[in-house]
Amino acid sequence: MKSAEAHKLEVVSMMYHDTIEGGLNESSGFHWPDAALYKLDVDHFDQHLQAIAQICRHPILISEIPSISTTSSKPWMITFDDGGVSAYTHIAGRLEELGWRGHFFIATDYIGAAGFMNRAQIRELRQRGHAIGSHSCSHPLRMASCSLRQIESEWSVSVNLLSDLLGERVDLASIPGGQYSRQVAEAAAMAGVKALFTSEPTIKCDKVADCLTLGRYAIQRWTSAQTAAAIASGKIVPRARQALLWQAKKITKAFGGEYYLKFREALAKRRPAPAK
Ligand SMILES: [Zn+2]
Repeated sequence: MKSAEAHKLEVVSMMYHDTIEGGLNESSGFHWPDAALYKLDVDHFDQHLQAIAQICRHPILISEIPSISTTSSKPWMITFDDGGVSAYTHIAGRLEELGWRGHFFIATDYIGAAGFMNRAQIRELRQRGHAIGSHSCSHPLRMASCSLRQIESEWSVSVNLLSDLLGERVDLASIPGGQYSRQVAEAAAMAGVKALFTSEPTIKCDKVADCLTLGRYAIQRWTSAQTAAAIASGKIVPRARQALLWQAKKITKAFGGEYYLKFREALAKRRPAPAK
């Protein structure tokens, strides 16, 4: 796809993380308090799926994009970050009951760690028709602030590991921590990533080197099923609200700067130990 075609493309991508039962935040995914904001109780997640299914067509997979007409109504996609074990134990089966498939992005240092999927589970999700991508190796919260060398290594090592694991070239990725820069996308392209999901709440796509970049709308634990369905169906108001909040957060970070990010990183140090 050429840059001009990428700019015409409009896709709604939803960014979910883990599902949990009984408020047990440590049962799936990262443990730090910030991560809990993105974990939905299983029953709540079911309500999301039902509300979305009532008003939306099936979600598409990124591999279907080349065949999507840019003049047709907006397609939507569903994505799950981090590689928490709930992707395998709860999420994938629920998607499949609806005839849906999702995108699962794996922080590869955590494969097999407590609360995360192991190699066999990731392989099985792929065999069941879901898309698997990289979410970096170590999940740096400020990827754009890492050295170019680390950014390149985070992408290339994770992409190669997942490619070996699945026996096919993995060319999808999502950025951990939400900090985007052109350099992050260029390094992903260098590692062979053809589609990179960011956390920018937008339906607009872009092309950086040979890599399509796509925004996403974050689902938090208090996001109502109705709001999720409205976003997935392409409604403007909830998307605009999220875009405004995102801009406000960027300004807060710009002024609170280092303090905000250091606080977040201090919390993140309480992450589970990576798999050995
Ligand atoms: Zn993440």
